[in-house]
Formats: sequence, C-alpha cells, structure tokens
Amino acid sequence: MIEVSCYNCGSTHHTLYATENGCSLVKCAGCGLLYVNPRPSDQEIDESVKVGAHKGEQTLNSTGHYMATKVAIYRKVLIDIYGMELQGRKRTWLDIGCGHGELLVALQKLCKGNVAAKGIEPNRHKIAAARKRGLDVGYFDLASHDERYDSISLLNVYSHLTNPPEFFRLVRQRLRPKGEVLLETGDTASLPVDKHPRPFDLPYELSFASEQILLRMLKQCGFEIISVNKYPAIKLRFMKGIIVKDIVKRVLLRKTSKLPALYTQLRAAKYRTDMWIRARAAV
Ligand SMILES: [Zn+2]
Repeated sequence: MIEVSCYNCGSTHHTLYATENGCSLVKCAGCGLLYVNPRPSDQEIDESVKVGAHKGEQTLNSTGHYMATKVAIYRKVLIDIYGMELQGRKRTWLDIGCGHGELLVALQKLCKGNVAAKGIEPNRHKIAAARKRGLDVGYFDLASHDERYDSISLLNVYSHLTNPPEFFRLVRQRLRPKGEVLLETGDTASLPVDKHPRPFDLPYELSFASEQILLRMLKQCGFEIISVNKYPAIKLRFMKGIIVKDIVKRVLLRKTSKLPALYTQLRAAKYRTDMWIRARAAV
C-alpha cells in the first residue's frame, strides 16, 4: 500500500470518512474528494484489473457477467442525452473500460449502423466474453495508441483511475477536433457518510468525486461541458423488482429482509447519485 496525496488539488490534509474491507476512505481537506489512502500500488492495481480480483481483507471479484438490463438502461440514458443525434451522421466511438460490452450493444441497437464502436477493457475474462458476442473489444495502452475518435465514453471507470486528470488529458488527445467525451460516475463526495451508497467496494473503487469537482477538472483538462444528467444509483434501478418483492415478503409474510445494503441505497435514491457528463474538446 502507498500513501498518496489528493490527485485533484494536491493537498495531503484529510480526515477519515469511512473504513471498509481493511481500507480507509479519506476526505480531502482541500477539495472534498473522497479517496482511498493508503491505496494499492500502481503495479498491484494493474495486475488486479486484468484478472478482476482486488485484495482487501476479502478479495473482491469485479468480473461479473453481461447484463441485458444494463443495455436497456444505457439505451434510455443515451436517448435522454443525445435525442436523435446518434441516428444522424456517421461517427466513430471508443468505449474505455467497456466491460462485457453493454454500451456497445446499446449503441448498435440505437444507431442502426451509424456508429462504428469499439471497446477497450483490461479484464481478460470480460474481453473474451465480449468477443464471443461478436463485439470489437481488445486491450491497448491509450498513451501509445494513435487513432482518433468522434466520441469516447468512460462509464463507471472514473472511480477506478489512480490519476483522472492525467487520464482526461490522454483521452482528449485521442479525440478528433470537437470530439466528445461521455462520462458516467457517482456524484457522492458531498454526501454525509450515512447517506453514501454502500458498499464502497474498496479497494476496487479508489475515489469518489462530486459534480462540482468533475466539472472543474474537465474544464482544466480542456473540455467544455455540454450537459449533465443525473439518475438514482444504477444498482438500485437494476434491483427495483427484487426490492418490491422483498418489501411484499417483509410486510405481508413478516419475513426478515435479505437486502439491507439495498435499502441503504434506496434511502439514498433521492440524491440521484448516478451522474452522466457530456463534454466537448475545447478548441
Ligand atoms: Zn483535494
């Protein structure tokens, strides 16, 4: 584990916000960012993401599986953000950290051949699964890659990055003039600790930002903001049916709930913590 300063403002001053899985999540005294400190070394993080195993007191598995519900959610959000734009002119799209390829599938369905989309993903199990679906997914280092794209998306990637500002500058270099970025992450750093969605999934998740922190950082990295959309936590939207059944069982059959973590999220639902930022490379 290595001791780190805040990647957003450089401050080394912080207070303890919460602990989980043998890791400490601290709040930066300078800007309010929540980040894991000390955190695993860069080398350990690189190794962990390739196999989807993240060591704390318990090892977290991040491989998971393909989720059709996610495709439906993404499709709806894309329509909210872009309207009919994606059915218009042809564009190239790179989805960084594409996982099992749900966004690529949503784009295929929505854009009817107008978007040539490919994904990069470090987890080798996810790459193999996405390829089986016929998706164009592989892994390459963004810094040594020379193609440019009309759109680059980063969904649920931000909180796993060790240095987001550095990464945003790299992303900007891979965009065509007026190219766009689509970023999804949580807007949770300003929440009181008892209102923050749980589990934090430490040390797989390394930091949590807020809308204010993100908009400022993107502008400093050469982006102009087009739109910000916010929704209740994505996990919660997945689990709606399960939660309703659980409530019925609890109330009618007086059975004990098996979903305490989900109820914490349900209480936090009003905060609309799932944030989507669309931004353009400034000229
Ligand atoms: Zn800071």
